[in-house]
Amino acid sequence: MLEQIGSEGASQLMQNPPLEHTASYYAASANVSAQRDVLTDDVITDVCIIGAGYTGLSSALHLLEAGFNVTVLEAARVGWGASGRNGGQIVNSYSRDIDVIEKTVGAEKAKLFGEMAFEGGKIIRDRIDKYNIQCDLKNGGVFAALNIKQMRELEHQKALWERHGNDQLEMLDTTEIRSVVDTQNYVGGLLDKSGGHIHPLNLALGEAAAVESLGGKIYEHSAAIRIERGEPVKVFTDKGSVTASFLIVAGNAYLGGLMPELRAKSMPCGTQVVATEPLTDLQAQSLLPQDYCVEDCNYLLDYFRLSGDKRLIYGGGVVYGARDPADIDAIIRPKMLNTFPQLSQVKIDYRWTGNFLMTLSRLPQVGRVGSNIYYSQGCSGHGVTYTHLAGRLMSEMMRGQAERFDAFASLPHLPFPGGHMLSVPFSALGAWYYTVRDKFGI
Ligand SMILES: Cc1cc2nc3c(=O)[nH]c(=O)nc-3n(C[C@H](O)[C@H](O)[C@H](O)COP(=O)(O)OP(=O)(O)OC[C@H]3O[C@@H](n4cnc5c(N)ncnc54)[C@H](O)[C@@H]3O)c2cc1C
Repeated sequence: MLEQIGSEGASQLMQNPPLEHTASYYAASANVSAQRDVLTDDVITDVCIIGAGYTGLSSALHLLEAGFNVTVLEAARVGWGASGRNGGQIVNSYSRDIDVIEKTVGAEKAKLFGEMAFEGGKIIRDRIDKYNIQCDLKNGGVFAALNIKQMRELEHQKALWERHGNDQLEMLDTTEIRSVVDTQNYVGGLLDKSGGHIHPLNLALGEAAAVESLGGKIYEHSAAIRIERGEPVKVFTDKGSVTASFLIVAGNAYLGGLMPELRAKSMPCGTQVVATEPLTDLQAQSLLPQDYCVEDCNYLLDYFRLSGDKRLIYGGGVVYGARDPADIDAIIRPKMLNTFPQLSQVKIDYRWTGNFLMTLSRLPQVGRVGSNIYYSQGCSGHGVTYTHLAGRLMSEMMRGQAERFDAFASLPHLPFPGGHMLSVPFSALGAWYYTVRDKFGI
């Protein structure tokens, strides 16, 4: 269904909400989860949240644990967006690293971002433990270098992350990386033992069940179509409404035009993923012997890992503006075979696309509109950990602890040059520039 939605996101999402998850491997292997109610009443709550992806669910869980009353509105199903379709890689830090933030906010303030850079992964593991979420958690993630320049960058990243408290890192030379991933393409890499991977949709479904176990209410097929700003704030669906003291907007790449000020400074992008047929134990063991997930260091990167039932989940490519490609295999299979030529006879069972939200700085945008509407969006492709942190920051904010939320909110939100209309060609040009640099290792 997503395939017909593209960059207009919620405009179509609101008029034509899809009934089910997109046809991915994750949907096919999802834990049992009942359909939830559609909102048909006028309800009153402390906090209304738009979107049941990780940002919305993490916010809901933190708020419920702090004693708030929470109502979540989801246009489609829990985890229908990027949170239920992503590569499943628990990657620490942010899409731009702490050193980039340091240049923007100064060394002192950057320390706070450094402290938070590894918190999202801990929140995920805490959720999995506390609420007994079955989502195939595996520990260990590798950043793979395709050339010496990328290797130097990884050494820099290791020193940077160690300075901010991550002691789980290990450089891998050419021989060592071949012992964790069976390809000739990499000259080395960086292993982060505090990285890892999960079945993303099952994580979202488990978090939703946790929300409900604490008394939170999630409505599915209940798109927010209008927001009446004020104190309280009122959110309308086509059959009901929610009146709340606070609103959290967590629609990310699928929000469309519901909040024009958020749309103006971000751009939905598509990325594609395939899942092969289950590999034999021997194939799986030789491909990724330690079962780590891997992403390469290119600007437009490839990412892959094994699923719980030993399929290779392989993703890559970016479609600026999130137009949906007609032939996903034609995009991803050559990338997969370039990394693993030994899989030429292996069938692809599932293919899908999903949208993430890009910002010009590639740093997340966090902020407040008026006195009681909060948002977090735009993790630019690395959001599995950050979105879990974002939920905690928004709950802290509502409990009157503003320091960490304000630190993120102080990062500049840059408009795309030329505005919304030119964001796609502008970004494609930028990506082309970085792709050429990656290709020649410059
Ligand atoms: C294919 C793919 C692969 C990725 N791989 C990785 C990875 O391996 N590691 C990583 O760190 N990050 C990855 N990402 C990024 C990561 O998945 C996202 O950053 C993260 O899931 C965003 O979560 P979210 O809750 O903010 O948004 P989403 O998960 O997109 O959730 C937004 C929700 O809001 C709902 N919604 C929108 N508008 C409305 C409305 N008007 N009313 C009600 N509901 C509404 C949508 O239906 C949707 O369910 C990937 C993204 C994609 C698309």
